[in-house]
Amino acid sequence: MIPSVLPTYSRAPLNFVKGEGSWLVEADGRRFLDLGAGIAVNALGHAHPKLVDAITTQAQNLWHVSNLYEIPQQQALADILVDNTFADTVFFTNSGTESCELAVKMARKYFFDQGEPERVEIITFDGSFHGRSSAGIAAAGSEKMTKGFGPLLPGFVHLTFGDLDGVTNAITDKTAAILIEPVQGEGGIRVVPDADLKALRDICDSAGILLILDEVQCGVGRTGKLFAHEWAGITPDIMMVAKGIGGGFPLGAVLATERAASGMTAGTHGSTYGGNPLGCAVGCAVLNEVAQPRFLAEVSRKSSLMRQKLEGLVAAHPDVFEEVRGAGLMLGLKCVAPNVDVVNAGYAAQVITVPAADNVIRLLPALNLTDDDINEAFTRLDTAATQVETA
Ligand SMILES: *Cc1c(COP(=O)(O)O)cnc(C)c1O
Repeated sequence: MIPSVLPTYSRAPLNFVKGEGSWLVEADGRRFLDLGAGIAVNALGHAHPKLVDAITTQAQNLWHVSNLYEIPQQQALADILVDNTFADTVFFTNSGTESCELAVKMARKYFFDQGEPERVEIITFDGSFHGRSSAGIAAAGSEKMTKGFGPLLPGFVHLTFGDLDGVTNAITDKTAAILIEPVQGEGGIRVVPDADLKALRDICDSAGILLILDEVQCGVGRTGKLFAHEWAGITPDIMMVAKGIGGGFPLGAVLATERAASGMTAGTHGSTYGGNPLGCAVGCAVLNEVAQPRFLAEVSRKSSLMRQKLEGLVAAHPDVFEEVRGAGLMLGLKCVAPNVDVVNAGYAAQVITVPAADNVIRLLPALNLTDDDINEAFTRLDTAATQVETA
């Protein structure tokens, strides 16, 4: 008999009933150190007082009004994003997938309005992940995600990750945009080098096409800058955001320049929930913390501390781990042992990590985890690795 919850997930037998900072409490009382943060979602950890306050205050006043009306919280969040990024304008969604949908529509509509309706193709890369909608799976293109789901949304050209020559050769008069994650998350914490991001920006400029960045996982302070592309000193034309921006409330956004967004006039796109008062009140509270230079500097400091300890862990357990990769607090351990064995050993040691492709485990902790949390993380990861070795 089919379970009452559609069985699309393979779940660990863990029932968390409470969260506090970087800690999750299981129904049986065990405390787990959370280095997954709901897959880079709980940017400020669990039950952060300022987020609890923001959502409680807003909930007592007004949860939801339609986008038929003005929404001051949405305006405030858009202003914060515009003030702190390349963007001139923002659309709010409820998820990364929806942000992907709009990014694709926006790029195509831009060229349509420029009198180039045949410019619909978007170049993407293997190992990428852009969500589970028809556009998202077509963008990623992997057999794992697309097989059995009927005709794919056309207009995506898939290239090998890191193949810049391939990009230049793939651009035709049908190409509208390049879509890339500055740091691949699901693909195994694969960082696009700054020089490659710069080169992609140049390729887009000389071909007159748009650069779309998917910062759903690597954005919102995760790498130690508010958005990951800032490290490369470039800006995109369109950027997808979600995960961390809501700190656990389902919230996403598409940020764009005025030019790239110029086709998206009244009536061309919409969302019932996207940008509602509850979500945007929380989003403002998240960004008021994360966008502070002091906060971002702390992310970089903790990243160095973690990396240093991770290098030690890899050196101490060469039969379990191969290398450390990533940026900021978006870190990966490439495993020698099967990554799911390491994740499961982590559960036994009461530390949460997240598997990714390429036999990697991801460490995506709350951005405000403490130095004590970091020390505890290594005690527990060391226990987990020892268990894998002796299994
Ligand atoms: C998680 C993710 C998405 C999809 O976001 P959802 O909120 O699950 O729809 C898209 N792109 C990237 C890079 C992601 O990590």
